[in-house]
Amino acid sequence: MPSPFLTPGPIAQANDVALLHLRRDQTIPTILRDYDDENQGYKEGKVSNTRFGSFPHSTLIDQPWGSQIVASKVDTGSRGRKGLAGKRKADEIEASPTTTGAEEDSSSLKKPVAATSGFLHLMYPTPESWTLSLPHRTQVVYTPDYSYVLHRLRARPGGTVIEAGAGSGSFTHAAVRAVFSGYPNEESVAKKPRIGKVCSFEFHEQRAGRVKEEITQHGLDGLVQVTHRDVYEDGFLLGDPKTGRSPKATAIFLDLPAPWLALKHLVRKPASGAESPLDPSSTAHLCTFSPCLEQVERTIRVMRQLGWLNISMVEVNHNRIDVKRERIGLDCEGIRGSTVFPRSVDEALAKLRTDDERAKKIRQGHVDGIQGDTSFQEETARIPKEQSGPTYSLGRLVHRSESEIKTHTSYLVFAILPRDWSEEDEQKCRQKWPSSK
Ligand code: SAM
Repeated sequence: MPSPFLTPGPIAQANDVALLHLRRDQTIPTILRDYDDENQGYKEGKVSNTRFGSFPHSTLIDQPWGSQIVASKVDTGSRGRKGLAGKRKADEIEASPTTTGAEEDSSSLKKPVAATSGFLHLMYPTPESWTLSLPHRTQVVYTPDYSYVLHRLRARPGGTVIEAGAGSGSFTHAAVRAVFSGYPNEESVAKKPRIGKVCSFEFHEQRAGRVKEEITQHGLDGLVQVTHRDVYEDGFLLGDPKTGRSPKATAIFLDLPAPWLALKHLVRKPASGAESPLDPSSTAHLCTFSPCLEQVERTIRVMRQLGWLNISMVEVNHNRIDVKRERIGLDCEGIRGSTVFPRSVDEALAKLRTDDERAKKIRQGHVDGIQGDTSFQEETARIPKEQSGPTYSLGRLVHRSESEIKTHTSYLVFAILPRDWSEEDEQKCRQKWPSSK
């Protein structure tokens, strides 16, 4: 089954994972279902309830990805709420604890959902959007870190990545895309598709089970293999920890509390006599992710003892720099920093009056028509209610860096382990490149 994460196709289909995008910072993940056990007898399939209305999946399935979908005119909310209150189904459980989207979803259970109160956009999932909407079971690796990590690990189509622990599966989704080069199409049928693999290890049984379920729901079976395992004790072979198959990994990512305890297994000839989990024909690239320097020091000490080379440490400090053009010569309080630059003083005053009226309306609770305009609402919410007077008298607007891009700052330690090089390898090399004699 093609995965909507890798090859979404033009339209949303039943059983696809979809992201219901409510606002820039609010997205609900769901599996599109054209049936609903709780709502038997209704034709609309499963219903997603949000503060912007109820969305029967019959209005989402077969729509092009990216479509704007208007909330149902029929009040399906009560049926959906009844369903949620009873037996909760897989993706509704997914949408629990800490995601903003999930909070949105569950908050709708408490208050009636007005018919036709809004709209959403139907988005196919990407590793980036999944990271921001997934149900957090642990701390997760965010996009600024994993994009850099995968680049430094040289994760590429056809490669095999080991990761431990799987946690909430954030890194897993980014890694699988990196090792996947697409299904063969008509032009590339003759070429062998370069499809790699992610071998994911997790010691917490429920978390391992949830990641496995998600991998299946997301159509990634065969590309991701999740193993429930304590990797400190039992290493990284697939199947039996001692006699199992080597994943032949070229890249390893360890997001573990004590990565140094797992390193003894990541060698060319393990002391236990078991097979090495590393690809014998390739250099291995390793990255560990640790929040404190004491952990980094212990990891580096063991890396050196085990022959890892080119050891370096990096901290990804992601900042979005918002650059705006300002009109030279127009130095009017309240205008600088505004996204729309007025061409005259009259235009500037007109804009300030409109902003002021909108601010008043928001204070009075009339927020119609500005769904999605959160920056304006946030800005206005900071204006103390008791203060009166026009907006421009309350001070100058300033630039802000984008706070929504989340990143969990940890120290990244990178190292490489060269492949073993025998006399036979040397001979082969000389035959292939005679000039190197
Ligand atoms: N990288 C993950 C993500 O992006 O979602 C988050 C990983 S979370 C911070 C660390 C995980 O390591 C936890 O789920 C924990 O159960 C797992 N873990 C801890 N010790 C382990 C061990 N010895 N073997 C396997 N997994 C382990």
